[in-house]
Amino acid sequence: MNSCNHKVITCKGAVVWKSGEKLKIEEIEVDPPKSTEVRIKMIYSSLCGTDVLCCNGFPKPLFPRIPGHEGVGVVESVGEMVKSLKEGDIVMPHFLGECGECPNCESKKSNLCQKYPLNFSGLLLDGTSRMSINGQKIYHHVSCSTLSEYIVLDENYVIKVNPRLPIKHVPFLCCAFTTGFGSTYKNVNIERGSTVAVLGLGGVGLGVSTFSTNSVY
Ligand SMILES: [Zn+2]
Ligand SMILES: [Zn+2]
Repeated sequence: MNSCNHKVITCKGAVVWKSGEKLKIEEIEVDPPKSTEVRIKMIYSSLCGTDVLCCNGFPKPLFPRIPGHEGVGVVESVGEMVKSLKEGDIVMPHFLGECGECPNCESKKSNLCQKYPLNFSGLLLDGTSRMSINGQKIYHHVSCSTLSEYIVLDENYVIKVNPRLPIKHVPFLCCAFTTGFGSTYKNVNIERGSTVAVLGLGGVGLGVSTFSTNSVY
């Protein structure tokens, strides 16, 4: 059983108050992790197009809200039921959980876990938020909200990272890089020796080009 830090942390977070408004850096309170949750001190975050959509109310207009679903950080404290992680672990949060046992987790065709799904409720699995400003609830974004200095989410949405990886590049593995790499590797079935054109070399395009050694840019 892990130890648990029960203190509320005051830190900075990038909050969007209304649909279409600019992000505002605010002082926020982040509650300690409950049960199977962990609290992460973020080291690096990056921005994805979906975060911009989130600021415009996608997929639900839940405000105030902290966007962000790409990042890397260190586990600061853990809930009393956490099994797979401990304080000090380098980790990345992820918007898709994995139970390892449901039909989709066991399938080679999908990883859309049925027990820990993509969560658009703006809340954690128990239907509450861990972030607030002077008592006012702040919504999470797809279980993550990586544009906060501290975040809380369930351990099943957290992936342990080899600390030997170049840490500042890890956030791209959370969404952009894996989108490009996974779609090429899993869906397109490019044959060995093919020449492919990659339009754009952002995080997604770089994921494609890593897989495709004969790419034309
Ligand atoms: Zn994304
Ligand atoms: Zn599952």
